[in-house]
Amino acid sequence: MNIVEIFETFPTQADCIRHLEKARWGDTATCPYCTSTRTIPNADRHYCYECKTSFSVTVGTIFHHTHLPLQK
Ligand SMILES: [Zn+2]
Repeated sequence: MNIVEIFETFPTQADCIRHLEKARWGDTATCPYCTSTRTIPNADRHYCYECKTSFSVTVGTIFHHTHLPLQK
């Protein structure tokens, strides 16, 4: 996949996030801190009922510490 194809496939940051979530978790988000699946979507992040933490799909990935748009 080249850079042009990436832009065409994921035109927005939200599309990138959804794709990453699907690739990482399938239909149910798993908390990266306690591995619970008792989570609910919360805006573009998720909330864990077990450890009462909100997290995003980029936790623990190469994207976690970057503030660049995911398309980059
Ligand atoms: Zn948790």
